[in-house]
Amino acid sequence: MAESSVFHRDLHSSLPVAVAGEGNYLIDGAGRRYLDACGGAAVSCLGHDHPKVREAIKAQVDRLAFAHTGSFTNQPAEDLAAHLVARAPEGTGAGRVMFIGSGSEAMEAALKLARQYCVENGEPERSRIIARKPSYHGNTLGALATGGHEGRRAPFAPLLIDVSHIDAPYPYRLKHKDESEEGFARRMADLLEAEILRLDPATVMAFVAEPVVGASLGTQPAPKGYFKRVREICDQYGVLFIADEVMSGMGRTGTTYALEQEGIAADLTTMAKGLGAGYQPIAAVLASGKVVDVIKAGSGRLWNGHTYMSHAIATAGALAVQHVIDEENLLSNVVARGKQLASTLEAAFGQHPHAGDIRGRGLFWTIELVADRGTKAPFDVAEGIAAKIGAAARARNVMTYPSQGCADGTHGDHVLLAPSYTSIPEEIDLIVETLAAAVDDVLGG
Ligand code: PMP
Repeated sequence: MAESSVFHRDLHSSLPVAVAGEGNYLIDGAGRRYLDACGGAAVSCLGHDHPKVREAIKAQVDRLAFAHTGSFTNQPAEDLAAHLVARAPEGTGAGRVMFIGSGSEAMEAALKLARQYCVENGEPERSRIIARKPSYHGNTLGALATGGHEGRRAPFAPLLIDVSHIDAPYPYRLKHKDESEEGFARRMADLLEAEILRLDPATVMAFVAEPVVGASLGTQPAPKGYFKRVREICDQYGVLFIADEVMSGMGRTGTTYALEQEGIAADLTTMAKGLGAGYQPIAAVLASGKVVDVIKAGSGRLWNGHTYMSHAIATAGALAVQHVIDEENLLSNVVARGKQLASTLEAAFGQHPHAGDIRGRGLFWTIELVADRGTKAPFDVAEGIAAKIGAAARARNVMTYPSQGCADGTHGDHVLLAPSYTSIPEEIDLIVETLAAAVDDVLGG
């Protein structure tokens, strides 16, 4: 085959060509079938060929593809926005939704909306952002600056805006031995208050967090009470709370929004992956009633626009995905298969000498690999343990999402699993069996 002209992530190795999707399997040009245990990066929550989603997209292609949002709205965008507002966590109010193409764009839009809110609310001195480390919020410059992912930030450092990072709650390494979950939650949330006070509360615009951390740390839920305290602190100091649900949202953790399980609402919420489930490139920002009201009373305009906003085919595809999740009662399957995944991971890795931590929620689980379980010492990142395990699983025809640890040793290599919401028990068993075999291939068993 001639050398590829696509700018792939790795220019030295050749990739198989994906030619088809069948249920929860991807098929390459040689006819090889891979069970998709991660949906890419927690994207493909309805497998790869759902007939209802395909039909809805085809019907929209025949009806209308694009009408510019400067002059028109369209029905699928209106219906999808209404669906997302209706399901938003209690306290969101009469929100509005903006549709764009990717999670990174959604984060940029949320940051800009936060700024618009502050300016229109008569507080132009509020511009500072506080986020967490580790975290990942996207690849565009503003989103990359907001993320606390050292490896991805480093090469671009001089271009990044200044964002403060506090520690994200990571019980495996940060919870003190005799600390209660509530005490840990309080201590970690209070880091936010300390940072707001250090910066000067009148200058802080927003706090950004993933309700369940995804790519940077691997499916880390917050301890009980953490987000309630975060909400209190944000309210006390007039700071907006931006929930990045790009990975955790749209049912991945068993509820439409992961934040629902924390009993609070965010001021701005981003979502992406499970929204279009990979059938269409689409992301969204949900602005709460509080934000919308200030803008309505102010300029009355959204100070943000992208040419392909509210794209009719993208929103029609995503609307079909959300209807399928409802009609097929898939959130209850996420909970049931999630319990199975958690218990089979525990059975396979609970005593494994290199499995330091097993964490997650719903169909969103991770194992963290360590060199020494006793001391929790991570592997040297140069060894590329997670990548090797990902490759070994792939050699056994199962796709996982491996990530390397942080070079400073603050967290270890991990492998993330995010199977489709349509998974059947046999697929969950096969995923865990294969991952266990892949770990043994790399680390010995
Ligand atoms: N936020 C989170 C929490 C993510 O996981 C990601 C993608 N992994 C993004 C933002 C960026 O999304 P995208 O890659 O679609 O730009």
